[in-house]
Amino acid sequence: MIHAQTARRALGRALVLALLMALATGARRAAAQSAANGWLDAAVFQQQPDGSSVPLAGVTVSLNGVLGQTIARAQTDNDGRAHLEAPQAVYTVTVQSDTLDGAASLVCGDADWNEAPGKEQAGDRVALVENTVLLRSGQGACREYLFVTPPPPAPRRVVHLTFDDGYVDLCQTVDMVVGLGIHATFFLTGQAMLANPACVQRLVAAGNQLGNHTFAHENLTRLSYGGIISTLQRTEDAAQAVAGVSTKPYCRPPYGAINAAVRRAAADFGCRMVLWDRDTLDWSGRAAGLVANTALSVSCNGETVLMHTQAFPQDQFAVPLVVQTLKDRGCVMTNVDEP
Ligand SMILES: [Zn+2]
Repeated sequence: MIHAQTARRALGRALVLALLMALATGARRAAAQSAANGWLDAAVFQQQPDGSSVPLAGVTVSLNGVLGQTIARAQTDNDGRAHLEAPQAVYTVTVQSDTLDGAASLVCGDADWNEAPGKEQAGDRVALVENTVLLRSGQGACREYLFVTPPPPAPRRVVHLTFDDGYVDLCQTVDMVVGLGIHATFFLTGQAMLANPACVQRLVAAGNQLGNHTFAHENLTRLSYGGIISTLQRTEDAAQAVAGVSTKPYCRPPYGAINAAVRRAAADFGCRMVLWDRDTLDWSGRAAGLVANTALSVSCNGETVLMHTQAFPQDQFAVPLVVQTLKDRGCVMTNVDEP
């Protein structure tokens, strides 16, 4: 019995010793692994409108392996800081916020740590994705991430250039507009459309707008209700036949001649009568400089400028000057249907 008890005690001691040794070995192994890790101290801020930065809490910082798997992940504290450890390897760092889209990153500390510092923006709340980084054993590094909220886009400053009629120099005017890389609206008569199908197709294909200027340039105030509907419909039919597009809802009355009866008939037809804010009088043969000055008196607040295809002799000089000057002012020239 004594031997048996002694043997059991000895066995018990041996087991306890083995357990202790195992614990010690495990602790040493854990200590060795921890020592082999590299670590990242990240700090995440948001830039304020006044240029200062405030720490961001609750932002997820992840170290991702080459297959995209997450090796380590931590959330920033109230001071905007997070500490991550991981074995020596190459990682990408993802900084993710539920509420912010970021725009920039800053490196701090050991530049050696990050082999590809720089900026990268990713949408969808993945605020910042770093390029490949190397985490070194037993070494730490600090990184700062700055969320920059993009400023709201400035409102577009727009001018609508419009060219009327089309029975003279339509093709030259279309070529000029296309060559200048702008969009304009052409209020053409149905007759002009039928006489110049290729040029009408070209202006439409280039993204310009085709509007209804009656079939034969009639003064609508002198037509009956049925006459107004008829001339607008014939022109709409011409646009459909020539270019496969509708002119609706953009109509312009020849001579700007309009009254309540014309408005009513046009509305029944489905037209919105587009007049103008600046009349360049280009049709009158006045000098290109005067034509340009009238157009350039706009403030890019959505004004509509009236010009004519038959004024090409002047407009081939006036329009490029107008377009370049307006572009230099930050204005965009668009169709009447574009805000
Ligand atoms: Zn006209």
